[in-house]
Amino acid sequence: MQIDLEFDRQHIWHPYTSTINPMRCYPVVRANGVKLELEDGTQLLDGMSSWWSAIHGYNHPVLNAAVESQLKDMSHVMFGGITHQPAVALCKKLVEITPPALEKVFLCDSGSISVEVALKMALQYWHALGESRSKFLTLRHGYHGDSFAAMSVTDPDNSMHSLYKGFLPEHIFANSPETGFRDTWDESDIEDFRSKLEAHHEQIAAVILEPVVQGAGGMRLYHPTYLKRVRELCDNYGVLLICDEIATGFGRTGKLFACEHAEIVPDILCLGKALTGGYMTLAATLTTKNVADTVCGGEAGCFMHGPTFMANPLACATATASLSLLDCGDWQQQVANIEQNLAESFAPLKQLSAVKDVRWLGAIGVVETHTPANVEKIQEVFVREGVWIRPFGHLIYVMPPYATSKQQIQQLANAIKKGIKETLM
Ligand SMILES: *Cc1c(COP(=O)(O)O)cnc(C)c1O
Repeated sequence: MQIDLEFDRQHIWHPYTSTINPMRCYPVVRANGVKLELEDGTQLLDGMSSWWSAIHGYNHPVLNAAVESQLKDMSHVMFGGITHQPAVALCKKLVEITPPALEKVFLCDSGSISVEVALKMALQYWHALGESRSKFLTLRHGYHGDSFAAMSVTDPDNSMHSLYKGFLPEHIFANSPETGFRDTWDESDIEDFRSKLEAHHEQIAAVILEPVVQGAGGMRLYHPTYLKRVRELCDNYGVLLICDEIATGFGRTGKLFACEHAEIVPDILCLGKALTGGYMTLAATLTTKNVADTVCGGEAGCFMHGPTFMANPLACATATASLSLLDCGDWQQQVANIEQNLAESFAPLKQLSAVKDVRWLGAIGVVETHTPANVEKIQEVFVREGVWIRPFGHLIYVMPPYATSKQQIQQLANAIKKGIKETLM
């Protein structure tokens, strides 16, 4: 049966498009490996990994088997007063692959919720210590999700804080890092952050940021020393550090976690997106024994959060299977190859007059243009060229599945070149 696109236009919200005159939607009927298949049979090379998540590609036999096997036992059961092997196996794995200090795992529904959980943990931590601290310090151009608390620490301009004035708590924003990942570190880059922390540390419960890669807020790749300084300053001022690795986790930047580029350990770590290999929604917030015990030693005696679908067994089993693929698979070589191939095929795009900057790290490639692309128009070119890339604003970017070949990276670069030439020049 044909997908009813007219019903879709009339009744279904899609992300970041109008219901009055919605942008075109492409009907996808199946996905396999690194390809999406449209209803008319067109095969599109996927440059997005479904927003960072499908790192192993689609319809993966190991992940399929994990879902099927778990489905026969139970797809869901409440987590209050009950535990199960899928949750225990996954949390064991998460504790094992993250820094040793992070030993307490809170499983939740989505990235935004894992950020909510992290912020609530930090607030409850200070409350338990008898200190009233209600501010968070974060970076401009950050992105932490679309729920209210997550949005309150997301870039105020990008997330249009003006729309929610009076409702959204106001936090403190430091300038985002200017020193690029491969630039020579400039000590003055940390000054704004340092002075804001110095001025307000007594009210600040935690710093929250995306390590090394600021994703949806601008696709900025910054110097690991910035992160090192942040950790030192948080230690000096006794402020908690939350690292949001929802986009960067599980190998995307060339390290299993982006924090490893700076050899730092956060007090609270948020994971999501690729956790289940892109099969379903699941996220995790990890913290130290100290933070967890302090939170639970307070007035409430526990952490005040418990979503209905907490530790959903289907999602946990799939996540464990995805992590086992990272364990025995060769993601490190694959991501290193993609980085090399991006360097070769994306760098020449810099020569186009419409292009302001080209940058890459691990399996992330970014082309920043002087003027914003017309998403609908440029996507028509991309689809004609057989690729799936979804730009936003001035940014045309790719984060393909790890199995993407050299020739396929070249195909993504060629399509971007055509798209820019036909719609931006
Ligand atoms: C996508 C993302 C989120 C939000 O995750 P959702 O699953 O969309 O709620 C939070 N932080 C970062 C860094 C992200 O990339």
